Amino acid sequence: MKLFETIKQMGHEQVLFCHDFESDLKAIIAIHDTSLGPAMGATRLRPYASEEDALQDVLRLSRGMTYKAACANIPVGGGKAVIIANPENKSDKLLRAYGRFVESLKGRFITGQDMNISPEDVRKISCETNYVVGVSEKSGGPAPVTAIGVLLGIKAAVEFRYSRESLDGLKIAVQGLGNVGKNLCQHLHQLGVKLFVSDVLPQKTEEIKRLYGATVVDEKEIYSLDVDVFAPCALGGILNSSTIPTIKAPIIAGCANNQLENEQVHSMLLDSKGILYCPDYVINAGGLINVYNEMIGYEEEKALLQLNNIYNSLLDIFSRAKEQGVTTHEAAKILAEERIRRAKSIKIVNS
Ligand code: NAD
Repeated sequence: MKLFETIKQMGHEQVLFCHDFESDLKAIIAIHDTSLGPAMGATRLRPYASEEDALQDVLRLSRGMTYKAACANIPVGGGKAVIIANPENKSDKLLRAYGRFVESLKGRFITGQDMNISPEDVRKISCETNYVVGVSEKSGGPAPVTAIGVLLGIKAAVEFRYSRESLDGLKIAVQGLGNVGKNLCQHLHQLGVKLFVSDVLPQKTEEIKRLYGATVVDEKEIYSLDVDVFAPCALGGILNSSTIPTIKAPIIAGCANNQLENEQVHSMLLDSKGILYCPDYVINAGGLINVYNEMIGYEEEKALLQLNNIYNSLLDIFSRAKEQGVTTHEAAKILAEERIRRAKSIKIVNS
């Protein structure tokens, strides 16, 4: 890989390769863009097949964080870190060594918990640095807030598509009843929505049926239901060339990461079917907004109020997509880049 060429092409500011002899830490911290604020991004630990795979992953994910924060309209930039290790070899020494590298960046990079990193691990990292989020009990876990963000996203899409504010009486299909999906069902039920749900675990669907009178449907059937909104809240890659032709819902609005199997191809396919797609990284930014608030001194009321950024950004994205004849996926990118460009030009004027 031509390292500097790749970094330049993807727009990264800094990539830090970290090695510690004693613990044999091998980590990469990628800071994509700090025009809007310090780079935020969680740390994942994986036994990557190759160092190149690890680098690709961290470069791609850190760039994604820049766009996510910009669309969430918070003063935060994009970053990400990967630790190349087997989860079994995770040790206090390794985590603390990693924490010292985070500290060395003096706040240009703020991190938290991702794959194979537990809240307890974050606590160990925090022995060496204050630049971590997710250790404070104040902001709680991200899922309940993510669910509220998704609810606001659904409201924005319903308002745009059907010119109505209320969700009362609408039919919504929720795929996946985990931490976010279950919370989302509760909110939707309270607002008078008729729920259709699927999960691979029968105890989860039974619980939502009992609590909220949801209709339980088969894992495959969930795509083709005649509903107003389809909310994918389970896995990535579920919007693809086999599922999209079967989807009847005019709106797709859910929390799952990387819903589009191929971003270009499948966002176009959804658009050609007239389906209003809420870009996943925009609608699921509630957790990021929550940890940002933790960073600035957590006040629940303020954090919840800021979730409205999701609603406002989505309405902006839908209008841009319609006016400019582009997909909502493309419109989200345009909105993020515009916000970043504006922040850059303000910095230049002030310097
Ligand atoms: P979770 O693991 O708690 O829940 C996922 C649920 O999906 C589980 O109940 C699982 O049984 C179910 N599931 C798995 N395969 C399925 C299938 N084929 N059909 C139907 N159900 C299936 O996860 P979560 O925290 O609720 O997050 C859900 C998604 O949202 C993930 O993609 C996650 O990356 C993304 N996300 C979550 C958050 C958050 O705050 N938790 C934030 C942003 C994005």
